[in-house]
Amino acid sequence: MPPDNLASLLAAATARLKAAGCDMPVLDARLLLQAAAAISREDLIMGPDLALTADQLQHFENFITRRERHEPVSRILGEREFYGRVFRVTPDTLDPRPDTETLIEAALAVMPQAARLLDLGTGTGAIAITLLAERPAARGVATDLSPAALAVARENAARLGVAHRLTLLEGSWFAPLSGTFDIILSNPPYIPDGEIAGLSPGVRNFDPALALSGGTDGLDPYRIIACSAAAHLAPGGRILVEIGAGQADEIAAIFTAEGFRAASRHRDLGGHERCLAFNRPEK
Ligand code: GLN
Repeated sequence: MPPDNLASLLAAATARLKAAGCDMPVLDARLLLQAAAAISREDLIMGPDLALTADQLQHFENFITRRERHEPVSRILGEREFYGRVFRVTPDTLDPRPDTETLIEAALAVMPQAARLLDLGTGTGAIAITLLAERPAARGVATDLSPAALAVARENAARLGVAHRLTLLEGSWFAPLSGTFDIILSNPPYIPDGEIAGLSPGVRNFDPALALSGGTDGLDPYRIIACSAAAHLAPGGRILVEIGAGQADEIAAIFTAEGFRAASRHRDLGGHERCLAFNRPEK
C-alpha cells in the first residue's frame, strides 16, 4: 500500500489527534481529510487506496496541525452546520453551538408566521437567519457591535436566501434601531470575565472575546437588554434569551424586576436550562 493513500493518512492523523487530546479524533480526522482532498464521505469509503496530490497533502497536514492546537474543526473549515444549514464562521464570530438550537425550537413554537423579529448580537446571523428561513413570511432586524461579524451575517443571509427579509445594523444592542417587534431574541455573551481564562483552549483561543465576555458576573448584557426591551416589543410580544448553565434564576430576576412575566424555560440536550422566555410587561 502506498504510504499516502487515504486509509493510512486517516489512521496516522487520527493517532495524532488522539495524542493531542481531541475528543473525537476519528470524526475530526475524517472531516479534515474530506475537506483537504475535496472528497465526500462516500469517496473515502469507496477509495481507501486513492492517493492525494502534493497540494492536498499539504492542506491536510496544515489542517491536522491546527487541530492539534485545539482549533475547532468548524473554524478550520470556516463553516458550521446549525439547525440543518451551513453557516460561514470567521475569527470575528462566535461559532454557533448546538445549544442555541434550543432557543430556535422555543422561538418557532411561539412565533407568528409573519413575525417581525429582532436578534441582538447576531454574530454569524445563525439565530435570525434560521428563523427567517423557517418562517418564509417573517422579516427581521439583527444588530451587532462588530462590523466584521455583520459582514459574515450578510454573507450567510445571502447564501441562505433571506437577505431581502433581514436588515443588519451596526451598534450596541438596541442603539441602532427604532420600532417594535413581535419577538426579540438574543444569545448574548454570558461568561463571567474571571472564568474566560479557564475555558477550554478551543473556546478561549478561538471564539472572539467580544462574543464571550459578559462582565464581572456574566450578566451585564441581560441587564442592558432587560432595561430597553419593553420599549421595542409590540403588544403581546416576547423576548427569548439564551443563558449559561446555572444562570436561570438570576436572569429571570433581572427581567421580572423590569416588569416582564416569565413565560417558559427550555433545557438543552445536556439537561441545562438554556433558554428563558418572557412576556412583555402589561401596562
Ligand atoms: N447570536 C450569535 C449566536 O448565537 C452570536 C452570539 C454571541 O456572539 N455571543 O451564534
